[in-house]
Amino acid sequence: KTEKQIIKNSIRDIKDFPKPGIVFKDITTLLNNKEAYGVLMNHLYQRYKEYNLDYIAGIDARGFIFGAALAQMLGLGFVPIRKKGKLPYTTISEKYALEYGIDEIEVHIDAFGEKEGARVLVIDDLIATGGTANAAATLVNQTGAECVECCFILGLTFLDGIKKLQDKTDVYSVIEV
Ligand code: IMP
Repeated sequence: KTEKQIIKNSIRDIKDFPKPGIVFKDITTLLNNKEAYGVLMNHLYQRYKEYNLDYIAGIDARGFIFGAALAQMLGLGFVPIRKKGKLPYTTISEKYALEYGIDEIEVHIDAFGEKEGARVLVIDDLIATGGTANAAATLVNQTGAECVECCFILGLTFLDGIKKLQDKTDVYSVIEV
């Protein structure tokens, strides 16, 4: 089996979660599978070791799991991009549209250090409409750092999220469905 098959086979579909009609991609079966989790993290390490990155920024909450592990492997710092109201220090925030209503994420104003232009990789488990990642990339750039790439374990290609995000930053999905 190829790396990508091992990763893909470890993610399960849950029908009608969180609402009827939605097929939820469940990555907990990737995380508790030591082979698949190891193959994935090694794949990400091999890709990003030559990127000359300064920080990995993970999106609340599943982006923390992959982002924190990858930061440690690459010898980099980790920055959480969180849902509104969770971060204790001064933040900047960005709203984005959901299917019904709006949501908001934020980051500490000083999260990417003092010097301008820190090279940041944004990571999350999945891109659907791209609204969340778009807001995250905007936030990173607003701090004075640079979102070099947005990385996802899973890219859903039937929604136009990836295409839209590509206007702002490079995009990489380990697996596309
Ligand atoms: P987007 O903003 O529409 O691209 O949605 C992406 C966000 O919703 C990410 O933070 C994902 O973690 C979450 N998400 C949406 N659908 C799924 C799913 O099927 N499985 C896991 N996370 C999902």
